[in-house]
Amino acid sequence: MVTPLWVRGQAEKTDETITSINPADGTIAGTCCAADARCVDQAVRATHDAWCRSDWPHRLPHERARVLAHVADALDGARDTLAVHQMRDCGKPLAECRRMVTAAAGAFRYYAAVLECEETEVTPPRGPSVSMTVLEPLGVVALVTPWNSPIMLEGQKAAPALAAGNAVVIKPSEETPHLALHLARLCVEAGVPPALLTVLPGRGETTGAAVVGHPLVRMVSFTGGTETGRAIGRVCAEKIIPAALELGGKSPHIVFEDADLDRALDAVTAGIFGSAGQSCVAGSRLLVQASIAEPFIARVAARADALRVGPPDHPDTAMGPLISTRHRDRVESYIRIALRDDGGRLRAGGGRPDDPALAAGAYLRPTVIDGLPNTARCAQEEIFGPVLACIPFRDEDEAIELANDTVFGLAAGIWSGSFDRAWRVGRAIQAGSVWINCYKRSSISAPFGGFKDSGLLREKGRQGLRLYGGLKSISVGLDAPRAPARGEA
Ligand code: NAD
Repeated sequence: MVTPLWVRGQAEKTDETITSINPADGTIAGTCCAADARCVDQAVRATHDAWCRSDWPHRLPHERARVLAHVADALDGARDTLAVHQMRDCGKPLAECRRMVTAAAGAFRYYAAVLECEETEVTPPRGPSVSMTVLEPLGVVALVTPWNSPIMLEGQKAAPALAAGNAVVIKPSEETPHLALHLARLCVEAGVPPALLTVLPGRGETTGAAVVGHPLVRMVSFTGGTETGRAIGRVCAEKIIPAALELGGKSPHIVFEDADLDRALDAVTAGIFGSAGQSCVAGSRLLVQASIAEPFIARVAARADALRVGPPDHPDTAMGPLISTRHRDRVESYIRIALRDDGGRLRAGGGRPDDPALAAGAYLRPTVIDGLPNTARCAQEEIFGPVLACIPFRDEDEAIELANDTVFGLAAGIWSGSFDRAWRVGRAIQAGSVWINCYKRSSISAPFGGFKDSGLLREKGRQGLRLYGGLKSISVGLDAPRAPARGEA
């Protein structure tokens, strides 16, 4: 069966299709219609026309908030079904997929609350007038998403974009196109005006480029690779529209000798091997103080060897497959380069699991490599797989220097028994999220994004609503002369 795309509030068929492959076993996860450039043009125009006629941008905040809260309930109600769809599309363990649906629901609930609390600002005038600042919607906003956490990322973008009164066009990843289609249907059933949410699956260089470049698209919120983000940023600059870019990372996980090493061990292994390393904030560089480096790396390697790699629907699976066999080939090539050219030493993993039951899937064993300089490609480039590069450091200064010696600046983890030191190091590291004595503790209420090549602007948090709007200053002139100040004659 071919799933139609979603335009004008309904399912529509096109001639082109894309097929997503279940990375756990190589079977077809689903086939859906794709949008070519002509279809994109018609769909964006239809979405824009609908927005111009809709009362959605003019509804009172509490009215839009009520609809968003219904979407949150609908997502919660559909959690198990959506989690299975996401698991088949992207291969993440089922429990993790369930958490992501819950996170998407949480985003809708959060922005419903933010919307109710957003206040018009009265700003000090410089003359006889009253001045206010209000947030206006932008029109059609494009959300371009990657394959690694589709339902969560699409929910985290669509919720504030709709809350701010916009219409939304989602261009999901060609690898995982189905979740956005489910989200659109749930949104409409929950009361979002049908034609204000359009989903256009297709390839990036065709469908995605046509969406981003469309003259009626007035803002782009993109999550994906840094080079794609750069290309999208160029198009947006030419159009003079805002681009929120959430890009790649090479996040350092720093362990000092005075840390609680048992807790650090748990966090370091979960930080890189969770989602099979296919997480933008994966702690892919372990920086560990030289005095404890050897025994700590040995423990990390033993943990990696013990992790259960298996099918994502098995309750005991700790790590599922990668997104595709093509991506696994790419990750394996990084391991080869590290061992062959850069002097790396394999401490765990390095290849595919022996289990013949996993042979058809895109599986790779959790891999730990040490002996690399921080300049090695494996320590500098985003691999987006279960590969940990371990690098020792002497002291605090060297830890900071190594942590910042990368083009990325998305996240960092710091483990130390000294709060003063952890705070100093945390402030010195160029990263959008810093976790002290924890890792990946994200919250929808905390701004999220990257420094340097990891991105531009911040999503989530209260100001995440303002990302999707334009501020307008309104001044009301007063005829009345200024009231005399108290005590003035
Ligand atoms: P990608 O950049 O290849 O693709 C992302 C999306 O962009 C897809 O929908 C793709 O079709 C589309 N696209 C590609 N070329 C385009 C173009 N020229 N114009 C418009 N759209 C285009 O990324 P991916 O491989 O799907 O995802 C992995 C990447 O995403 C990693 O680099 C990872 O770090 C990043 N990521 C970042 C965050 C974050 O919040 N910082 C979160 C998750 C993933």
